[in-house]
Amino acid sequence: MSLEISGLHVDVETEDGPKEILKGVDLTINPGEVHAIMGPNGSGKSTLAYSLAGHPKYHITSGTVTLDGTPLNELTVDERARAGLFLAMQYPVEVPGVSTANFLRTAKTALDGEAPKVRTWVKEVNAAMQELGLDDSFTSRSLNEGFSGGEKKRAEIVQLQLLQPKYAILDETDSGLDIDALRVVADGVNRYTAQGDRGVLLITHYTRILNYIKPDFVHVYVDGRVVTEGGPELAQKLEETGYDSYIAAARANA
Ligand code: ADP
Ligand code: MG
Ligand code: MG
Repeated sequence: MSLEISGLHVDVETEDGPKEILKGVDLTINPGEVHAIMGPNGSGKSTLAYSLAGHPKYHITSGTVTLDGTPLNELTVDERARAGLFLAMQYPVEVPGVSTANFLRTAKTALDGEAPKVRTWVKEVNAAMQELGLDDSFTSRSLNEGFSGGEKKRAEIVQLQLLQPKYAILDETDSGLDIDALRVVADGVNRYTAQGDRGVLLITHYTRILNYIKPDFVHVYVDGRVVTEGGPELAQKLEETGYDSYIAAARANA
């Protein structure tokens, strides 16, 4: 059982044709582990997240991703979700005309293969919204439409909490949050990991969130690959040194 990324090379479709962004990513996330991926802007972190989730613009040219033994490349986005994968996007998509309540219910129904029991579900939704500091009016609003950046991030964690995926990829869920919102969002993630057998890939380029969510492993990610790995102390070191030396080393190797 694990989310296993092995030798992953990915091209993105651009106007000038395919461009290689991921250049051999190796990473294994076991249930119960929190992995932080830290890297500079433009290093391909979101590309990794989208590739795992099955975004059609990103093409795996070599390597494999398996989720508890099932190859992901052969699965559609929906099938990946049903297999237990969840992506909180860096820029959550606005879905006009679909209320947040309806979206959550539809997602839950699709995952479970049956609609949740109305009475308990509404309670669960309201509790999750409250825990993430979103008032009741949000459930009747179109998903993410007109939400502030911070409200979108909170709404992603409401989904995480309600859908309880086996593996969650959180792409810069911390960016754009003030310190209070960061704490609320981190608490939500921690409630999720407290279930015990969840695997988390926490993508960030700030160490700040790692004060609230303790990673088991930290991976430094530059130019489409992991260049160094370590424990939580590596995040501390990055705080002091920044990415420059890693970027220079990656360039020298390219
Ligand atoms: P990060 O999340 O680490 O900031 P991204 O994965 O968003 O990095 O982007 C990595 C690189 O891939 C960037 O140079 C970006 O411009 C390029 N890229 C990503 N998606 C596309 C796309 N759809 N078209 C062209 N270039 C892209
Ligand atoms: Mg970026
Ligand atoms: Mg990104």
